[in-house]
Amino acid sequence: MFIGHYSTAFAARKLKPAIPLWHVFIAAQLVDFGWAILVMLGVEKVRVIPHFMEASMLDLYYMPYTHSLPGSLIWAIGAGALYGVFWKGERKFSAGLIFGAVVFSHWLLDLIVHAPDLLLYPGGPMVGFALWNSLVWSQLVEGGLLLAGFALYMFCTKPKTKAGVWAPFALLAFMVALQAYNHIPVEVPPTPLVFSVMGVFAYSLLALLAWLTDRTRTS
Ligand SMILES: [Zn+2]
Repeated sequence: MFIGHYSTAFAARKLKPAIPLWHVFIAAQLVDFGWAILVMLGVEKVRVIPHFMEASMLDLYYMPYTHSLPGSLIWAIGAGALYGVFWKGERKFSAGLIFGAVVFSHWLLDLIVHAPDLLLYPGGPMVGFALWNSLVWSQLVEGGLLLAGFALYMFCTKPKTKAGVWAPFALLAFMVALQAYNHIPVEVPPTPLVFSVMGVFAYSLLALLAWLTDRTRTS
C-alpha cells in the first residue's frame, strides 16, 4: 500500500493537533523507510516479477525485520517511545502513543493488500489478504481510506493563510498523481534497488509537502 497509509497520519492530526502533520507522515511510512534501506543493504529481499499481482510486481519474499508482526510492533513501540521522550509539549505519553500507533497502522494496512508475505511470528505463517490481486478494488480501498483521513484533516483544521484554502487539495492531487504513476505499466520493470530509492524519495517528498501544507492550516 502507498497513499492509503497516509489516512492514519491525517487522522492522527485530529487526535492530537499539536503533532505536526509531517511527523506522522514519516511515522506512517517508517517501516517502509526501514524496508528500503534494508533492501539497499541486501538484508531484506524482494524479486521483481511482472504481473506478480495485478496491482504489484513485487514478490516481497523476505522482510522479517520490517514487515513481520513482531518486527512492526518493535518499530512502533521503539519509535513511539523515542517520540514521547523527545516530545517538547505537554502529555508526552499521548504523543508517543499516537506516533507509535501510526507506525503500527502501516502493518495493518499492508495486511489488506499484500500477498501472504507478512510473517505472523518467527517460524509462523505468512499472512496477507492479497487485495493487490485486483487493481480496481485495491485502488478503491486505498483511495477511500486516504479520502476519509483527508476529510478528517479538513474538518479539524481551517485555513491560516490564503494558501490554506487550496494547499491541502494540491497535496491530495499530488498524492493521487504519484499513486497513478506507480501503476503505469512499464516495459522494463525497475530493479529492487531502484524501487527502494524511489520509495525513500517519494516518502521524503510527501513529508516535505505535508510540512508546507500544514503551515497554511490551523486547528
Ligand atoms: Zn510496507
